[in-house]
Amino acid sequence: MALSTATRLSDEEKLEALRRLDQFRQWHSLNEKRYCLVCGKLISGRQIQVAGGTRGNGPLRLSCPTEKCNSIPMDWVLPTDEILAQVEKLAEEERKASALKPVGVAIGNGKTVHADKSHEHFVSQLRRLAFHLRRHSKAVPSNPYGP
Ligand SMILES: [Zn+2]
Repeated sequence: MALSTATRLSDEEKLEALRRLDQFRQWHSLNEKRYCLVCGKLISGRQIQVAGGTRGNGPLRLSCPTEKCNSIPMDWVLPTDEILAQVEKLAEEERKASALKPVGVAIGNGKTVHADKSHEHFVSQLRRLAFHLRRHSKAVPSNPYGP
């Protein structure tokens, strides 16, 4: 069935449909959230699509709001702390993966700048040492008589 058959329901009717069709978990409000195991997204009761039953005789179906996700109410678990932590972890990893490159470059730049500075410092130290050695060698004439 195409999404065009989606039935427009009032909040009350929708909640009623959720309660009737989702026999696995209790729905107390449309603002309740479920974690869809199939697409890995948090969905709210309000977002869940109710389809079918347009002529009052077809069975209503609940479907995940995520495109191409064909999960059924059984796949929608209550978002416990554990699941929320898991979702957050996944989101964090995704963020890290997408931010890895720019962050790496920034760190590289910082290190490069730092390395340059200490390198400059090292070079100026060497110059000073060389200058000192040259003066010192001039101040002490080589032994004309030789060993
Ligand atoms: Zn889904």
